[in-house]
Amino acid sequence: MTQLLPETHLDYSDILIKPKMGINMNSRKDVSLTKEFKFKHGQVRTGLGIFNANMATVGNFATVKKLLVKGMFATLHKHYNADEIGNFLNQCRIENISLDNLFITIGLKNINQEFDKLETLESKYKWISPRNICIDAPNFYIPKALDILEKTRQKFNDAVIMVGNIASGDMCLKLLDNADIIKCGIGSGSACLTRKQTGCGVPMVSLINECADIAHSVNGHICADGGIVDIGDICKAFCLNADFVMIGGMFAGTDEAEGEIIEKHFTTNEIIDGQPVIQTKQFKQYYGMSSEYANNKFAGGMCNYKTSEGRELLIPYTGTLDKILQDITGGIASCCTYIGASKVKHMAKCATLIKVNNQLNKVFEKYSV
Ligand code: 5GP
Repeated sequence: MTQLLPETHLDYSDILIKPKMGINMNSRKDVSLTKEFKFKHGQVRTGLGIFNANMATVGNFATVKKLLVKGMFATLHKHYNADEIGNFLNQCRIENISLDNLFITIGLKNINQEFDKLETLESKYKWISPRNICIDAPNFYIPKALDILEKTRQKFNDAVIMVGNIASGDMCLKLLDNADIIKCGIGSGSACLTRKQTGCGVPMVSLINECADIAHSVNGHICADGGIVDIGDICKAFCLNADFVMIGGMFAGTDEAEGEIIEKHFTTNEIIDGQPVIQTKQFKQYYGMSSEYANNKFAGGMCNYKTSEGRELLIPYTGTLDKILQDITGGIASCCTYIGASKVKHMAKCATLIKVNNQLNKVFEKYSV
């Protein structure tokens, strides 16, 4: 019989974090943002649990470099070849940028080719322990995905392996037999059409709550992937016990994201000297990895049995990524002082989350300058 779960599943906009007394800190400067991650298959990494999405637009070298410099985690998208990645590794080594938290992404499509790429990195570019692999599939429920994960674990026994995406605790548990980090989130992304085209998906708050609990019970980790609209959402994810948060759209309007700035001219209602005032706005292109655009660019077009599950967007240009990364670390540190957490590591332990009807006051939003 069809099962209909009666409880409402919640998203970031449905909850807030309730401030409370705890370890009283005078300043957000006192908050420790760095955490040690002890992974299920034996590896240890240290940093702030923020990832860029492994998408062509924000999984590029410039974005990744900035995140690594800031002590965060980063994923390169899967469409770079071994020499391109190898040259990047060498460049980071020259600049003294630690590669400990860099994940190389592979896809499911042609696994022998993907393994060749990793082996070339190993032999030609000294990509040896510590190393991290992200196995990327929009839908990790397919049997082939499990098989490839198992083979990857056999071949790269000492790697930290992140896989996804999934949106249920049962699969989270199963994947942790061989993976270290499970990317949770289906349908939440800002360039995603999966919910529209398939009706499938789970709101992020309920999903994190379910998956973190299950993953942590077997020493696994989860990465909450997609749906970050505001920096407060990252804080909420950490308070819900997500170990990592993955971000696409919020990084996609920056100088570092792939692609040129696109200028568009708009006629305003204002008239000066009898002429309407023309306003220029700047944008960057952001597209889902399952969009028709991405299929045309990377897969030689859409197959006739597929529908596009991603959008192609022009989103506002937001300047340098440094500013956003600073806002993120500032926002997380401030959240910690509101809930009495001296370390990011303690956020979940210290947080009380409340369900709300109205998250933000938007009365003057349209007057923002
Ligand atoms: P955002 O931070 O933009 O809300 O979400 C980024 C995440 O959206 C990515 O990490 C990935 O999981 C997901 N995503 C990227 N491209 C697509 C797509 O074409 N379709 C779907 N369904 N999800 C996508």
